Amino acid sequence: MNLAIRGRLAIYFDSNLKLHIIKDPLVLVEGNSILDIDSFSKLKKEISNHDIIGDENQLIIPGLINCHTHLAMTLFRGLADDLPLDIWLRKHIWPLEDKLQANDVYVGAKLGAIESLLAGVTTLNSMYWYPSSEAQAFEETGLRGMIGAPVITGIAELPEAIEVIEKHHNTIQDRLRVSLSLHSPYTVTIPDFQGANDYLKEYNESQVDKPKILLHTHLAESENEIEQSQKLHKEHGIEFPEVSTPTELLESTGILSEYLLAAHCIHVNENDIKILEKNKVRVSLNPLSNAKLGNFMPPVPKIITDISSVGLGTDGPASNNTLDLFDTIRFLALYYKGFLHNPTLIKAQEVFQLATIGGARALNWRGIGTLEPGSLADIITINLKKPHLTPKNLDDSILNHFAYAMNGNDVENVVVDGKVVVKENEILRLDVDQSINEVEEATNRLLS
Ligand SMILES: [Zn+2]
Repeated sequence: MNLAIRGRLAIYFDSNLKLHIIKDPLVLVEGNSILDIDSFSKLKKEISNHDIIGDENQLIIPGLINCHTHLAMTLFRGLADDLPLDIWLRKHIWPLEDKLQANDVYVGAKLGAIESLLAGVTTLNSMYWYPSSEAQAFEETGLRGMIGAPVITGIAELPEAIEVIEKHHNTIQDRLRVSLSLHSPYTVTIPDFQGANDYLKEYNESQVDKPKILLHTHLAESENEIEQSQKLHKEHGIEFPEVSTPTELLESTGILSEYLLAAHCIHVNENDIKILEKNKVRVSLNPLSNAKLGNFMPPVPKIITDISSVGLGTDGPASNNTLDLFDTIRFLALYYKGFLHNPTLIKAQEVFQLATIGGARALNWRGIGTLEPGSLADIITINLKKPHLTPKNLDDSILNHFAYAMNGNDVENVVVDGKVVVKENEILRLDVDQSINEVEEATNRLLS
């Protein structure tokens, strides 16, 4: 069955970054892609046996893209807050993760996927343990995205990661991809980064006309990464290069390329940004998590000007504490204005771009983050008939509402890969209460 979506307004960037605003729009979906988008009056004769969703109160936009999270950390939400990253990770999160079982990750990821879809996220990039459990959650919930094949020196080795790639990359009707997730420069040694990158280069060269794999890592998230990395290399008897920043460290390994997605990039200086730009590295900004963990803030105005593939991430729900990308959108749109005494920084249109087509570029995923004909049908509608989204008399005020007033609860319908997964605020085919109960049980067991 084909799908037709009606609305009051449709807004999207096309792949050339041109902004389109269509009044009284109709979107026609055939199979898993967008056949056409134009005004209702022009396209209405094309409607035949279509399922019709939406109405005159809906804003139609591309599904949002969450470029960096740890999906199953729904299990740990609210358990250890108001702590520095190092203590939070080493004293609270890692000991709990030691007790994780595959089913915990499955139930945690499934709830995270449900939360994300209800808030309008249609593609999500996760890095976590038990990737096959995460894959199952993606399959059952209908979400699109990328799971990580983890590599951490001495804990998770490359051969196991390769098995994950061979099993899951480009599966579930092309909705699921796998990244090589090398946690960070302070948990992965230089030879392990290089070994993974050699595999990646060979694999990607063999994938003619097929989706490539990305290498996904945390970069320059906290201030003392060089000292931590020096300690790690000393423990493994590996010589450490003469570098002063985590970006220089990764550059020295030769792994910087268009196939690297770097999350955070907080402690990067001007030269680091040049290095990232020169090597076409992709970046996920996660400002809410950065603020909460007191890691300082990335130089976002410079990053979005100088680097071409930048998207937004929530980071894990234990360090945010939600998977609602609207929280991150609003925070990003506001924070730098105040911090740098400049209300013209990071305009509404720019955050809209980062959350949609920017995310697609950051994940190197063609056909998402836009509504242009021929793209994949990942579409959300937002109900504008709300007190906090009134008035809406000017079309461009809607983008201001997007940046400064909307939240995930305003999302009314969600379509992923041409299939309706959320209809009138209700997630279809999944039992939300059961999913909540499963996570409560799993967390209780992990804490006991
Ligand atoms: Zn993270």
